[in-house]
Amino acid sequence: MKHRGIAWLAMLAMVLYLLLGKNYQVAAKNIATDFKQQVIQVFADINPKKITKNYEIATETSKVTMKSVSKTATPIESVVQGHSLSNVYYYRFATTIPSNVKKVFEEAVSEYNQTGIVKLVARKGTQKQNQILFSTYNKKMTTANQGTIELGHGGPEVIQQTGMNAYTVNHAKASLNVRYAESVQLSVAVHELGHALGLDHSSNRNSVMYPVDQGETSLSSGDLEGLKAIYNN
Ligand SMILES: [Zn+2]
Repeated sequence: MKHRGIAWLAMLAMVLYLLLGKNYQVAAKNIATDFKQQVIQVFADINPKKITKNYEIATETSKVTMKSVSKTATPIESVVQGHSLSNVYYYRFATTIPSNVKKVFEEAVSEYNQTGIVKLVARKGTQKQNQILFSTYNKKMTTANQGTIELGHGGPEVIQQTGMNAYTVNHAKASLNVRYAESVQLSVAVHELGHALGLDHSSNRNSVMYPVDQGETSLSSGDLEGLKAIYNN
């Protein structure tokens, strides 16, 4: 009888090991980041306040595979592709953010909330929830930048926890370069928030994700299509 009891215990331990141990073994955290910078070019031979041409330099480390639902849809950032993300985001502002920057980001937030595709909530999220941190930075351009001014940067950071309690979330960032007044405008905030939510650059001129800043503040049909593709709705 005593031996049978031990045998049962051994079996129970084995079952528990198979149920729990295996999952613990495969538990791993993968983090992929894809931040991009937005710059404008100021031609040296004209009044620097008059910006004739704006464009952007993408500094992503991973290659972007153009996987879109249609030719007109705004492409999706590579690190976001293939992931199932909740469309609810909790956003907060860095404590040092100036009120004028906070205002343009708040306007950008309502622009995205109006689409009904994503829901951005002004609250601090948990580790297992999608988050966006809005901030500023101060970066002075040098001659090495060849007359370009960096307006801001933004992008997703996809955190994937596997095994038990598996989850995939995006802890994104969007930031404006307050060194230059040109940065604090709605078109830049909408563009950087677009990156944070997973949108990549578009070749369509009416897209807020067009690399050459057109001062565009309204999401195009292609932008909406791209967002829908990310959030499956
Ligand atoms: Zn960009």
